[in-house]
Amino acid sequence: MIDASTSQHLINSKAKAEICLRCNTNIWVATVNGFKVKVEPNRLNSTEEVILRMAGSRIFQTLRIGNQFELQIRNTWHITKGDPKAIVLAEHDCDRSQKEPIEDFYAAVKTENPEEPSF
Ligand SMILES: [Zn+2]
Repeated sequence: MIDASTSQHLINSKAKAEICLRCNTNIWVATVNGFKVKVEPNRLNSTEEVILRMAGSRIFQTLRIGNQFELQIRNTWHITKGDPKAIVLAEHDCDRSQKEPIEDFYAAVKTENPEEPSF
């Protein structure tokens, strides 16, 4: 049995700024628990985080190390008891085909908040 706590494959690396080769936008790239992860460069507020979680996006947060940072998978513990200064970032998923839930959400919000009351 592999001891995950000492496995050399569960590596975390510091994030590097890169350009996504697929969509040509700025992203952060880091190794998280041995897997290469791409995240969006813009920090999320709590509303954006909820919307993206509902749409199925994976959410990460920064772990500052000196003047660099690693990424952590953001779980319930991080949200309720973790570092409140951690920056919340969404996974960059330009190769993911299911963009509709977020677009539908924004469309629904616009529809539900017309400029004049409709009743
Ligand atoms: Zn991309």
